[in-house]
Amino acid sequence: TANKKMKEVKDTYHTHLHSIDRKYFKTAKKLLQEIHKRMFTVYLQPKINLSDEKLNGAEALVRKLNGKGNLVPPIDFIPELEQNGLISFVDFFVLETVCEYIHNWQKQGKKFIKVSVNMSRTTLRKKNVVQKAVAICSKYQIGPQLIEIEITESIGGLEKKLITRLMDDFHTAGFSIALDDFGSGFSNIAALAENDFDVVKFDKSLIDTIFENDKSRTVIQQAINLCNAVNKNIETVGEGVETEQQLQILKEYGCDIGQGYLFSRPIPEEKFLKDFLTGENGEKCD
Ligand code: C2E
Ligand code: MG
Ligand code: MG
Ligand code: MG
Repeated sequence: TANKKMKEVKDTYHTHLHSIDRKYFKTAKKLLQEIHKRMFTVYLQPKINLSDEKLNGAEALVRKLNGKGNLVPPIDFIPELEQNGLISFVDFFVLETVCEYIHNWQKQGKKFIKVSVNMSRTTLRKKNVVQKAVAICSKYQIGPQLIEIEITESIGGLEKKLITRLMDDFHTAGFSIALDDFGSGFSNIAALAENDFDVVKFDKSLIDTIFENDKSRTVIQQAINLCNAVNKNIETVGEGVETEQQLQILKEYGCDIGQGYLFSRPIPEEKFLKDFLTGENGEKCD
């Protein structure tokens, strides 16, 4: 059955195996084995509505287990996977795991929350990426309305036409799209005008000094205003909120959602279920 399971894993991901550079085939096989052996796991970090401090949703963040059973953060393995083009296996594994989580929550009568997944540039470049995402959702009977795709502002490197088409296709399928890490690099303001993002996530570096530094405070205030001026329905998210002072400032400026250690670190699904999907936060209300 180990072979059968391996075949299942391969089938799930084979769509993209053909687009992998031949010289990375061995590495790809090893990665699929690691996925199969559950050496990757998906943590969840809650997103909190700043108006009532109730749960808004969660972001899925991948973790890898090393031989000693310790968790390796994404920064230590994602760059290499982006280089060799194998990150899409991980991105789709994360989406699939998230669908499994949501499916189980629904079975337990929990509230429906939206979960966001990160999609790297390399993944977005793959053929049929949207159809693939749709197929994974329907395998678990999850409406794409419950999934948000996070695209980092480094999509600057993708062709405009490709981004436009991807955004259209994701939207048509029912997914929402977040612009991640806004403010962490250059030339990201044009992206706001050119694309129809549902959510903008302000990078932690924009939030870090808003209490101590007047200029940072003005920047975040005007960034929130800019997003709302471009699209009054846009959701603004402050990332890396660590202090009560930062929270108060974001609230005052009308930021919609907060995410950060102040509320919770990324945690395993079981803990997320126990701490955030029970009691008044987690009961099904509709
Ligand atoms: P991101 O998508 O911007 O995710 C937010 C990161 O900020 C997470 O780091 C999270 O743990 C961290 N964070 C959140 N709140 C706080 C805070 O209050 N203080 C501090 N110091 N950090 C905070 P993480 O999990 O290490 O992930 C880093 C990056 O790796 C992510 O940044 C994302 O770009 C990438 N990543 C994570 N999972 C995936 C994935 O499944 N696929 C892809 N392609 N990239 C992923
Ligand atoms: Mg993200
Ligand atoms: Mg971010
Ligand atoms: Mg708004």
